[in-house]
Amino acid sequence: MTIYNFSAGPAVLPEPVLKKAQEELLDYQGSGMSVMELSHRSSLFEEIIANAEKLLRKLMNIPENYHVLFLQGGASLQFSAVPLNLAQNKKALYINTGSWAEKAIAAAKDIHTVDTQVIASSEDKNFAYIPQITKDLLDKDAAYLHITTNETIGGISYQKIPDTGDIPLVADMSSNILTNEYKVSDFGVIYAGAQKNMGPAGLTVVIIRDDLLNEQPLFAPMLDYRLQADKHSMYNTPPTFSIYMAKLVFEWLQDLGGIPQILKYNQQKAGLLYDAIDRSALFQSPVNKNDRSLTNIPFLTNSDTLNQKFIQLAQEQGFENLKGHRSVGGMRASLYNAFPLEGVQALVDFMEKFEKAHG
Ligand code: PMP
Repeated sequence: MTIYNFSAGPAVLPEPVLKKAQEELLDYQGSGMSVMELSHRSSLFEEIIANAEKLLRKLMNIPENYHVLFLQGGASLQFSAVPLNLAQNKKALYINTGSWAEKAIAAAKDIHTVDTQVIASSEDKNFAYIPQITKDLLDKDAAYLHITTNETIGGISYQKIPDTGDIPLVADMSSNILTNEYKVSDFGVIYAGAQKNMGPAGLTVVIIRDDLLNEQPLFAPMLDYRLQADKHSMYNTPPTFSIYMAKLVFEWLQDLGGIPQILKYNQQKAGLLYDAIDRSALFQSPVNKNDRSLTNIPFLTNSDTLNQKFIQLAQEQGFENLKGHRSVGGMRASLYNAFPLEGVQALVDFMEKFEKAHG
């Protein structure tokens, strides 16, 4: 039976990447050692991390005046690192679009030297839409405005990045980095956990504009962006194997034609599923049509019992991890870069069959 993995993360990885890792697992480039066994100071690993950075810069067209950091602690640690580095004794602005934005806001509020303000929210409609941001909402003295480009749980996404003028825009791009075309220069900081579109868990990528690096050393060296940039992510032992895997994923994506190509593929996949939901008299999408995510697609019937039945029968057919997040229920299909179109077609066929039998 073919298994289709709809997990929101850690998520499906490209099969050619897994095969390449398997081939190289016991003996990396004739060294007689696995990548996992290499010193992070060895020339072989130095080459891996340098190539990973080079490929990511190429894929995202990252300008020279941005640093690329390969860190640990997940996107969750960045919820604290961003305000600590950028907004001590300043104002930090946030847009609340759902579960992940809320976590970022809560972490910033815990830092008492930061004046955290939520300037827009879609909580009034259960986070079914992206609020409009107008210039008059932006405080000129703010250290940054933080957005979550894609809400992994709620399934909404910015179709247009807000224009913040001189205020640096900080983006949690955990669930849609490399899936969509963004202009890095529209942002001051981009951060993302790797485990959805870049590789296994354990690696967090931070892309930060040079002038935003902290002037003063931070009390905690591991959180200090300037130190991490000066040490080229080697202040301590970086997550070597995850960086190696990310490098293989970047190569895979580059060979496919980069982000413009994968975006077309992602649009095709998401379009197929949204069309099926819109055609259906049984399944619905809980979010505003204009703000729908390309990568995380929640859907549900009007009965919890039917939702559970669908999830159970789907799993028996090899559709794994379709259960929606525990906070929202229903179903959710995560269609990241490595998820195949055939899997979406198979799911749509299954939904139609289910509707005939239970609708
Ligand atoms: N932000 C978003 C948008 C996410 O989807 C996630 C993880 N699902 C996180 C932050 C937290 O990431 P991590 O588990 O890497 O800390």
